[in-house]
This record gives sequence, C-alpha cells and structure tokens, in this order.
Amino acid sequence: MSKRSMLVVSSCILMLLLSQPASAETPRTDQPVAPAKAVATDLREHEPFIRQAFELAVSAGKHGNHTFGAVLVHQGKVILTSENTVCTDNDVSRHAEINLLVNARRKFPSDVVRSSTVYTSAAPCPFCSAALAARGISRIVYGVSYEAFDRVFGTKEVLLPCDSLYRQLHKELTFIGPVLEGEGLLVFKHWPESDPFKQFISERLKNL
Ligand SMILES: [Zn+2]
Repeated sequence: MSKRSMLVVSSCILMLLLSQPASAETPRTDQPVAPAKAVATDLREHEPFIRQAFELAVSAGKHGNHTFGAVLVHQGKVILTSENTVCTDNDVSRHAEINLLVNARRKFPSDVVRSSTVYTSAAPCPFCSAALAARGISRIVYGVSYEAFDRVFGTKEVLLPCDSLYRQLHKELTFIGPVLEGEGLLVFKHWPESDPFKQFISERLKNL
C-alpha cells in the first residue's frame, strides 16, 4: 500500500465518519469542552500493556502485516488484543485499532468499551483516531510518538494528531505517551519483507 493510497483511503473514511450524525452514545455539543490532555505522569503503570501492544505488532509483522498492535484494558485487565491485518485481509482499513474496536463492539457492551483504555503500539493515525472518537474512547496510551514515527516513515505531512482531532470534534481525551518509545521503534525492524516500504524503513532505522 502506498502512502498516497493510505492517505486517500484514510481521508475518505475519516470524512465518512465525520459526516455521520452523532450517535446517542457520543453526543455532540456546541459547548466548549476541556481540551485533550497530554499527561506527563508516571508511565510505568502503562508499560506492561504497551509491551503487549509491541508484542502484537511484532506478531503482525511475522504474519506478513504492518507492525502495529493494540490492547483494550478495562479496570486494569486486558480484555481484548488485536494486530494489524491489512495485508493478509487485503483491506487497508484493518489497522490494529480498527480491528480492536470491531471485535470489542461484538464482545462487550458499549459502556464497557467506552470506559476502557486503548493501548496502541504507535500513536493512532487519523483514520483510527476518528474511529476511536466515534466509539467514545476517551483514554488512549501510545508507545511510539508521531515525531518518532515520522523519523521512520516520513509521514509528517499526512498526520492529523489524535488529540488535535478530538479537540476539533469537541471530545474529551486523555492522551498518554510516548511509553517505551525506544523499544517501540525496534518493532519496525519486523516490518514484513513483502511490503514495498521495507527497504525505506530499514534505511531510516539505521539512522536513528
Ligand atoms: Zn490507523
């Protein structure tokens, strides 16, 4: 999948999501709400869940998919995990966070999903950010930051940060990270050999 096609698809789906009427579970308001918060706190409590997201990302790469993973945590316990399956499903929408949300909707009541924390191996792309906001997720912890991701993928020009999108949607978000970013960057060494980006990413990783 090329960067251009990823951008086009993400943008189309993002516009579709944003054009949908607000659901009852995620009421929109014209009143200003608290801005998304970047929390600087003790991150150690998040490390086990982020490491699990990294392990899922490595597993995705070994399965021939892009190296991203996500974990859903409710009341301190992992209730669901997911990997990116873009390549094996031949579906550009199958990002780890999307797979997590789709399966969560099938398995758990909406209030459980909304009150859970999403841990993701890298800060969410615009496509996943819109889906997370639409599902009512208000707490996200990420491993690799947008800045570090850009150093590997060179994608700064296409990124709409998750917390910025939430602000524009007037949705509250506690956005925590990066967590174990150095370990998270090593995950990209497992990017699948079959993907056209492999060489580009490998060269970038050498220069970090
Ligand atoms: Zn995504």
